[in-house]
Amino acid sequence: MSDTENVLEVRDVVKAFGGITAVDAASFDVPDGSITGLIGPNGAGKSTMFNLVTGVLTPDSGRIRLRGEDVVGEPPHRIAEAGVGRTFQTPKVFAGMSVRENLAFAAKDQTGESALGALLRPGTVAKEEAEIGERVQETLEFLELDHVADEYARGLSGGQRKLLELGRVLMLDPELVMLDEPAAGVNPALTDRLLERLHELNDEGRTLLLIEHDIDLIMNNCDHVVVMHNGSKLASGPPSRIQEDERVVEAYLGGGE
Ligand code: ADP
Ligand code: MG
Repeated sequence: MSDTENVLEVRDVVKAFGGITAVDAASFDVPDGSITGLIGPNGAGKSTMFNLVTGVLTPDSGRIRLRGEDVVGEPPHRIAEAGVGRTFQTPKVFAGMSVRENLAFAAKDQTGESALGALLRPGTVAKEEAEIGERVQETLEFLELDHVADEYARGLSGGQRKLLELGRVLMLDPELVMLDEPAAGVNPALTDRLLERLHELNDEGRTLLLIEHDIDLIMNNCDHVVVMHNGSKLASGPPSRIQEDERVVEAYLGGGE
């Protein structure tokens, strides 16, 4: 299809909820291999944009292309299969499952037909289980969660929960990782660990798209920044340029952020 310079292309996307146009003709690109920051005042439409890209919501109009393929109308599991993983502003983990079970379940969830598959092809199940177990262990070590592997997720701190949610996303081996406010409410030590891991994932070739309120974090860690305001893109470019953009400064200062 089109060249693969951008892993994600959003074009003229509109989404209204009743009288509120949350996303209003937004267009932007996420360059392949980038760490792209999506910023903007509260209510700018950032989380809605994540829901549109991941198929949780369907745009009223506009196009969303993943590696050149139009994905509008595809359900979330198809978009996940296409290589998009995402975390939520409020982490979605199973409180009554252990950390290890949360990770294993994320992998099984992906195959979708595991229960049926287990009946139909019993020979492959043991192998699949072993592979999942291995991947769980790798993920636990990567995020330094192995010491809490057998604790219930409900016992984790807010920051550990965010790491676990990232771990659940990584179980699906995504090419594009979308994180909604990964550092919000996370203590500085865990934020440092998270950022270190995000850079490692990027070095492996994964593209990252992150929503974050901490402007310093965005400016210090992203190589591309998209600014949303009132549902549209206000500006985009390298952090140094965004920082000096008067429209951006005004949107933040005037926007009550
Ligand atoms: P951000 O993540 O940038 O803070 P959101 O995407 O959450 O912004 O919200 C953008 C606008 O859309 C806000 O005015 C919000 O109140 C509204 N909105 C978001 N989701 C819904 C929904 N499900 N129903 C009605 N309004 C919504
Ligand atoms: Mg939000």
